[in-house]
Amino acid sequence: MLDSARRVVVFTGAGISTESGIPDFRGPGGTWARVQPIMFQDFVSSAEARREAWRRRFDSEPVMRAAQPNRGHRAVALLVRQGKASAVITQNIDGLHQASGVPEAQVIELHGNSTYAHCLDCGKRYEIGALRAAFERDGEVPGCVACGGLVKTATISFGQAMPENAMERARRETLAADLFVVLGSSLVVYPAAGFPEVAKRNGARLVIVNRQETPLDDLADLVVHHGIGEVMGGAVGVN
Ligand SMILES: [Zn+2]
Repeated sequence: MLDSARRVVVFTGAGISTESGIPDFRGPGGTWARVQPIMFQDFVSSAEARREAWRRRFDSEPVMRAAQPNRGHRAVALLVRQGKASAVITQNIDGLHQASGVPEAQVIELHGNSTYAHCLDCGKRYEIGALRAAFERDGEVPGCVACGGLVKTATISFGQAMPENAMERARRETLAADLFVVLGSSLVVYPAAGFPEVAKRNGARLVIVNRQETPLDDLADLVVHHGIGEVMGGAVGVN
Protein backbone atom coordinates (compact mmCIF):
# COMPACT_ATOMS: atom_id res chain seq x y z
CA MET A 1 0.00 0.00 0.00
CA LEU A 2 2.86 2.40 0.78
CA ASP A 3 4.45 1.63 -2.58
CA SER A 4 1.30 2.32 -4.55
CA ALA A 5 0.20 5.39 -2.58
CA ARG A 6 0.70 8.84 -4.05
CA ARG A 7 0.09 10.83 -0.90
CA VAL A 8 0.23 9.34 2.58
CA VAL A 9 -0.97 11.00 5.75
CA VAL A 10 0.25 9.53 9.03
CA PHE A 11 -1.89 9.94 12.16
CA THR A 12 -0.18 9.15 15.46
CA GLY A 13 -1.28 8.68 19.05
CA ALA A 14 0.30 7.75 22.36
CA GLY A 15 1.23 4.25 21.20
CA ILE A 16 4.09 5.49 19.02
CA SER A 17 5.65 7.35 21.96
CA THR A 18 5.27 4.63 24.59
CA GLU A 19 8.08 2.94 22.65
CA SER A 20 10.18 5.98 23.64
CA GLY A 21 9.29 5.58 27.32
CA ILE A 22 6.53 8.19 27.47
CA PRO A 23 3.58 6.78 29.40
CA ASP A 24 0.18 6.56 27.69
CA PHE A 25 -1.90 8.89 29.83
CA ARG A 26 -5.16 7.47 28.55
CA GLY A 27 -4.22 3.82 28.36
CA PRO A 28 -4.87 1.11 30.95
CA GLY A 29 -2.99 2.02 34.11
CA GLY A 30 -2.12 5.40 32.59
CA THR A 31 -1.69 8.49 34.70
CA TRP A 32 -5.27 9.58 34.13
CA ALA A 33 -6.55 6.40 35.68
CA ARG A 34 -5.05 7.68 38.93
CA VAL A 35 -4.91 11.46 38.64
CA GLN A 36 -7.78 13.75 37.69
CA PRO A 37 -6.95 15.92 34.69
CA ILE A 38 -7.00 19.65 35.34
CA MET A 39 -9.75 21.30 33.34
CA PHE A 40 -8.93 24.40 31.32
CA GLN A 41 -11.54 26.47 33.16
CA ASP A 42 -9.93 25.57 36.49
CA PHE A 43 -6.49 26.50 35.20
CA VAL A 44 -7.81 29.90 34.15
CA SER A 45 -9.79 30.61 37.31
CA SER A 46 -7.72 29.05 40.11
CA ALA A 47 -4.18 29.84 41.19
CA GLU A 48 -4.07 26.52 43.06
CA ALA A 49 -5.06 24.60 39.92
CA ARG A 50 -2.30 26.41 38.02
CA ARG A 51 0.24 25.49 40.68
CA GLU A 52 -0.87 21.85 40.51
CA ALA A 53 -0.72 21.84 36.70
CA TRP A 54 2.81 23.24 36.75
CA ARG A 55 3.91 20.83 39.52
CA ARG A 56 2.79 17.92 37.34
CA ARG A 57 4.49 19.35 34.27
CA PHE A 58 7.80 19.86 36.09
CA ASP A 59 7.51 16.39 37.66
CA SER A 60 7.26 14.89 34.18
CA GLU A 61 10.31 16.77 32.92
CA PRO A 62 12.91 14.00 33.52
CA VAL A 63 10.80 11.53 31.47
CA MET A 64 10.16 14.08 28.73
CA ARG A 65 13.81 15.08 28.50
CA ALA A 66 15.02 11.49 28.37
CA ALA A 67 12.61 10.50 25.59
CA GLN A 68 14.17 10.13 22.17
CA PRO A 69 12.51 9.33 18.84
CA ASN A 70 12.26 5.57 18.28
CA ARG A 71 12.18 3.34 15.21
CA GLY A 72 8.53 4.18 14.52
CA HIS A 73 9.27 7.93 14.52
CA ARG A 74 12.26 7.34 12.25
CA ALA A 75 10.14 5.33 9.80
CA VAL A 76 7.58 8.14 9.66
CA ALA A 77 10.34 10.72 9.19
CA LEU A 78 11.71 8.73 6.26
CA LEU A 79 8.30 8.65 4.58
CA VAL A 80 8.14 12.44 4.92
CA ARG A 81 11.71 12.91 3.67
CA GLN A 82 10.97 10.73 0.64
CA GLY A 83 8.00 12.94 -0.19
CA LYS A 84 5.71 9.96 0.28
CA ALA A 85 3.97 11.36 3.34
CA SER A 86 2.72 14.94 3.14
CA ALA A 87 1.95 15.42 6.81
CA VAL A 88 1.94 13.87 10.25
CA ILE A 89 -1.20 14.56 12.26
CA THR A 90 -0.53 13.79 15.91
CA GLN A 91 -2.42 13.62 19.19
CA ASN A 92 0.93 13.58 20.99
CA ILE A 93 2.34 16.58 22.80
CA ASP A 94 5.95 15.40 23.10
CA GLY A 95 7.56 16.97 20.02
CA LEU A 96 9.19 13.66 19.04
CA HIS A 97 8.17 13.86 15.37
CA GLN A 98 10.04 17.15 15.05
CA ALA A 99 12.95 15.65 17.00
CA SER A 100 13.06 12.78 14.50
CA GLY A 101 13.50 15.24 11.62
CA VAL A 102 9.97 15.90 10.37
CA PRO A 103 9.87 19.61 9.48
CA GLU A 104 7.71 21.66 11.84
CA ALA A 105 5.49 22.71 8.91
CA GLN A 106 4.54 19.07 8.26
CA VAL A 107 3.62 18.19 11.85
CA ILE A 108 0.03 19.01 12.78
CA GLU A 109 -0.43 18.92 16.57
CA LEU A 110 -4.09 18.46 17.49
CA HIS A 111 -3.43 18.60 21.24
CA GLY A 112 -0.62 21.13 21.20
CA ASN A 113 2.91 20.70 22.54
CA SER A 114 4.11 20.34 26.12
CA THR A 115 7.80 20.94 25.42
CA TYR A 116 7.27 24.70 25.67
CA ALA A 117 4.73 27.13 27.07
CA HIS A 118 2.93 30.17 25.77
CA CYS A 119 0.83 33.11 26.91
CA LEU A 120 -2.87 32.33 26.60
CA ASP A 121 -3.58 35.92 25.54
CA CYS A 122 -0.79 37.05 23.21
CA GLY A 123 0.85 33.74 22.35
CA LYS A 124 4.36 34.74 23.44
CA ARG A 125 6.52 31.65 23.80
CA TYR A 126 8.26 30.61 27.03
CA GLU A 127 10.75 27.80 27.69
CA ILE A 128 10.01 25.24 30.40
CA GLY A 129 13.41 25.54 32.09
CA ALA A 130 13.06 29.26 32.77
CA LEU A 131 9.53 28.84 34.09
CA ARG A 132 10.67 26.07 36.38
CA ALA A 133 13.33 28.29 37.91
CA ALA A 134 10.72 30.97 38.61
CA PHE A 135 8.31 28.38 40.02
CA GLU A 136 10.91 26.99 42.40
CA ARG A 137 11.80 30.48 43.53
CA ASP A 138 8.31 32.04 43.83
CA GLY A 139 5.96 29.04 44.10
CA GLU A 140 4.19 30.07 40.91
CA VAL A 141 4.80 30.71 37.25
CA PRO A 142 4.74 34.44 36.56
CA GLY A 143 2.35 36.12 34.14
CA CYS A 144 3.38 37.08 30.62
CA VAL A 145 6.04 39.80 30.57
CA ALA A 146 4.47 41.28 27.44
CA CYS A 147 0.79 41.45 28.41
CA GLY A 148 0.33 40.00 31.90
CA GLY A 149 -1.69 37.05 30.56
CA LEU A 150 -1.57 33.55 32.00
CA VAL A 151 1.28 31.34 30.84
CA LYS A 152 0.43 27.67 30.21
CA THR A 153 2.09 24.75 28.48
CA ALA A 154 1.23 24.92 24.78
CA THR A 155 -1.08 21.93 25.10
CA ILE A 156 -4.82 21.67 24.60
CA SER A 157 -6.34 20.81 27.99
CA PHE A 158 -9.66 19.18 28.73
CA GLY A 159 -12.33 21.82 28.32
CA GLN A 160 -10.18 23.89 25.98
CA ALA A 161 -11.28 24.48 22.37
CA MET A 162 -9.52 22.44 19.70
CA PRO A 163 -6.97 24.54 17.77
CA GLU A 164 -8.85 25.74 14.67
CA ASN A 165 -5.82 26.16 12.48
CA ALA A 166 -4.49 22.67 13.20
CA MET A 167 -7.93 21.11 12.74
CA GLU A 168 -8.36 22.81 9.38
CA ARG A 169 -4.90 21.78 8.16
CA ALA A 170 -5.55 18.22 9.31
CA ARG A 171 -8.84 18.15 7.47
CA ARG A 172 -7.25 19.42 4.24
CA GLU A 173 -4.40 16.92 4.44
CA THR A 174 -6.81 14.08 5.17
CA LEU A 175 -8.94 14.91 2.13
CA ALA A 176 -5.84 15.03 -0.12
CA ALA A 177 -4.53 11.63 1.02
CA ASP A 178 -4.99 8.34 -0.80
CA LEU A 179 -3.50 6.35 2.09
CA PHE A 180 -4.18 7.16 5.75
CA VAL A 181 -2.00 5.36 8.27
CA VAL A 182 -2.96 5.36 11.96
CA LEU A 183 -0.11 4.53 14.35
CA GLY A 184 -0.73 3.95 18.03
CA SER A 185 -4.03 5.71 18.51
CA SER A 186 -6.93 4.04 20.26
CA LEU A 187 -9.19 6.26 18.09
CA VAL A 188 -11.62 7.00 20.90
CA VAL A 189 -11.06 10.75 21.34
CA TYR A 190 -13.18 12.92 19.08
CA PRO A 191 -12.94 15.06 17.06
CA ALA A 192 -9.42 13.77 16.39
CA ALA A 193 -10.57 10.21 15.77
CA GLY A 194 -12.91 11.42 13.04
CA PHE A 195 -10.05 11.91 10.57
CA PRO A 196 -9.63 8.23 9.61
CA GLU A 197 -13.38 8.08 8.97
CA VAL A 198 -13.18 11.16 6.75
CA ALA A 199 -10.23 9.67 4.85
CA LYS A 200 -12.01 6.39 4.29
CA ARG A 201 -15.24 8.06 3.19
CA ASN A 202 -13.18 10.12 0.77
CA GLY A 203 -11.84 6.99 -0.92
CA ALA A 204 -8.44 6.66 0.78
CA ARG A 205 -7.18 3.35 2.02
CA LEU A 206 -6.94 3.06 5.79
CA VAL A 207 -4.26 1.22 7.76
CA ILE A 208 -4.31 0.93 11.55
CA VAL A 209 -1.29 -0.23 13.54
CA ASN A 210 -2.10 -0.41 17.24
CA ARG A 211 -1.45 -2.95 19.96
CA GLN A 212 -5.09 -2.94 21.04
CA GLU A 213 -8.24 -3.13 18.97
CA THR A 214 -9.83 0.16 17.95
CA PRO A 215 -13.45 1.04 17.19
CA LEU A 216 -12.45 1.62 13.54
CA ASP A 217 -10.73 -1.72 12.92
CA ASP A 218 -13.70 -2.97 10.87
CA LEU A 219 -13.46 0.08 8.61
CA ALA A 220 -9.75 -0.38 7.84
CA ASP A 221 -8.18 -2.07 4.80
CA LEU A 222 -5.40 -3.41 7.01
CA VAL A 223 -5.14 -3.75 10.80
CA VAL A 224 -1.95 -4.81 12.57
CA HIS A 225 -2.08 -5.38 16.33
CA HIS A 226 1.62 -5.13 16.97
CA GLY A 227 4.42 -2.75 17.97
CA ILE A 228 4.78 0.29 15.71
CA GLY A 229 8.57 0.42 15.53
CA GLU A 230 8.78 -3.15 14.34
CA VAL A 231 5.92 -2.91 11.83
CA MET A 232 6.79 0.46 10.32
CA GLY A 233 10.55 0.02 10.59
CA GLY A 234 10.18 -3.22 8.70
CA ALA A 235 7.79 -1.70 6.16
CA VAL A 236 10.05 1.17 5.15
CA GLY A 237 13.46 -0.36 5.92
CA VAL A 238 14.53 1.70 8.93
CA ASN A 239 16.30 0.40 12.02
ZN1 LIG B 1 1.10 37.69 26.68
